[in-house]
Amino acid sequence: MILLEGKTLSTLEKERIRNEIRKEKGRINLTVILVGEDPSSKVYVSSKEKACQELGIDSRIIRLPESTTTEELINIIKDLNSNNTVNGILVQIPLPGHINEEEVLESIDPSKDVDCLHPYNMGRLLIGKPVVEPCTPKGIIKMLDHFNISIEKKKAVVIGRSNIVGKPIALMLMHRNATVTICHSKTQNLEREIQSADIVVAAIGKPLFVKDSMIKEGTIVIDVGITRMEDKANEKGYRLVGDVDFEAVSKKASAITPVPGGVGAMTIAMLMDNVIRLYRLQKERK
Ligand code: NAP
Repeated sequence: MILLEGKTLSTLEKERIRNEIRKEKGRINLTVILVGEDPSSKVYVSSKEKACQELGIDSRIIRLPESTTTEELINIIKDLNSNNTVNGILVQIPLPGHINEEEVLESIDPSKDVDCLHPYNMGRLLIGKPVVEPCTPKGIIKMLDHFNISIEKKKAVVIGRSNIVGKPIALMLMHRNATVTICHSKTQNLEREIQSADIVVAAIGKPLFVKDSMIKEGTIVIDVGITRMEDKANEKGYRLVGDVDFEAVSKKASAITPVPGGVGAMTIAMLMDNVIRLYRLQKERK
């Protein structure tokens, strides 16, 4: 069984990026907007800030109160769009419920849309000509490639159809010549679908959902889920678990990502890579 250690690979990727931008240190900027007080979002944003600092990417975090309106947020994004010192814009989602997420994401200049959430960029991804690929799916493909796991001709089952993970990873696996089935909460006979898979991607947000009885021997299992589970024995009071019952499933899988230290670790490295790519594209256009 191959343990798909995103953590080790992400360290290598970050090292590569650090070397690649040595001469441009501090000249490349990622601006992240955080609205409200969601504790998980706060943690994600500070790890993005930390990664930028490690690599020599200038980062700016705009922290806005929960009461921010859609219009106020869009006006801030418009200013960032026209600011030449900003290369990548990331709006941390989920946004508070009263904010129109769709309008907000559409207001980001597609050439600065670092997580590929603007409809223009999603359309480019759909036709196989992405400007940049969304960070989490990009990290998954990078991991499979790194561990020499071929995708072509495999049957892939993606559980989850969110715009940020499920749909884009399904597209990207299809572009790499897998035959892809997308499952969701209304899928009939989900277990039968999972049983038929050579590659399973679980992006559901339901801890320990995928059991060993659901997969066939030798399946490649990618666990995107991250949920905090209460754990009094842990000094933090919680532990992170994925959508896959790692203990049992790892005994049957031929390769599997751990949580933490799997997909999540790669996501940040790919975010950094996307900022650099956008910066280079913007420079070419000048
Ligand atoms: P999401 O937007 O909540 O989507 C969850 C998807 O799972 C939906 O499509 C939903 O189906 C489907 N689903 C829910 N219950 C199901 C069930 N019982 N059977 C089959 N499908 C079911 O979640 P997301 O943003 O994609 O995130 C998923 C998980 O990945 C979360 O734990 C999140 O924290 C994690 N995540 C991790 C990273 C990373 O870097 N590692 C990045 C992003 C997200 P419907 O569409 O029918 O509702």
